Amino acid sequence: MMMSFNTTTTASNASCSLASSQKTSVRGVRANNKLRAQKHAIARQNGRRASSLVVCDGTGKFVVGGNWKCNGTIDSIDKLCASLNSGKITADVEVICAPPMVYIDRVQSKLKAPYQIAAQNCWVSKGGAFTGEVSAEMLKDANIPWVILGHSERRSLCGETNEFVGLKTKYALDTGVKVVACIGESLAQREAGDTLNVCFAQLKAIVDCVTEKDWENIIIAYEPVWAIGTGKVATPDQAQEVHAGVRKWMNENVSADVASKVRIQYGGSVNAGNCDELATKPDIDGFLVGGASLDGEAFVKICNSAAHSK
Ligand code: PEP
Repeated sequence: MMMSFNTTTTASNASCSLASSQKTSVRGVRANNKLRAQKHAIARQNGRRASSLVVCDGTGKFVVGGNWKCNGTIDSIDKLCASLNSGKITADVEVICAPPMVYIDRVQSKLKAPYQIAAQNCWVSKGGAFTGEVSAEMLKDANIPWVILGHSERRSLCGETNEFVGLKTKYALDTGVKVVACIGESLAQREAGDTLNVCFAQLKAIVDCVTEKDWENIIIAYEPVWAIGTGKVATPDQAQEVHAGVRKWMNENVSADVASKVRIQYGGSVNAGNCDELATKPDIDGFLVGGASLDGEAFVKICNSAAHSK
């Protein structure tokens, strides 16, 4: 079943590149929430109720994922685990490693805190006669807390549509597995000025399937396809512009509360050399890392870039 990549959006009439006034308001989502929280506190001090005010208090914890993809042998995986365990993660950061399924149990038994484990995919519904698939129930049963869904390689190579990714996301969440949901545009889509509309269509398919509460257990990973595995990283400003656009869209299409709390990772050729600068951008809440996550030392450095996050 080869499904086409859906680039149309009914979710938003947002333009493809943000006007500067929009950028200001996008950057302001978090600042506004802080302001609202301050106003709320002042109102309470003054003995007034502040029922119309939204106070946002998400974890805000920087989160870095390592997507090992279809790489490794028992030997190299053991070495990688040893290197990760010997690295010092000094920053306040949540770290999630996604080994190939066949090694997941081995890696889970080797990696120490703070490393958590993710699967790289799972099936859209209850397990059964689905050769080669793994179900969310199996992940739950094996104490795998996270799954990466909608990675561009699965969208382009395995034909996963926006709607399919939305359904998978809902099924995993309902089964008790948290989701790193990947979105991102191809080079042709970026060059056609469709970056935000593509991302919004991918998000809308998820929003259509999940509840507002489900967003507590979803991380969005913005991964421009042209930057994945190419060594061509988005500039910090390019990444920030899309992250801010995504947060603004979430504000308008889900809620201010979810928009301020949801963590948005950047993914695409992140490495030990470019992570610190990317991490300074206000709407970048972490990274999803492919190639560099196979190098323990580099990955630990990327995790510690959390210290630069604003
Ligand atoms: C990825 O595949 O999720 C990814 C970001 O890969 P890389 O870091 O190698 O570009």
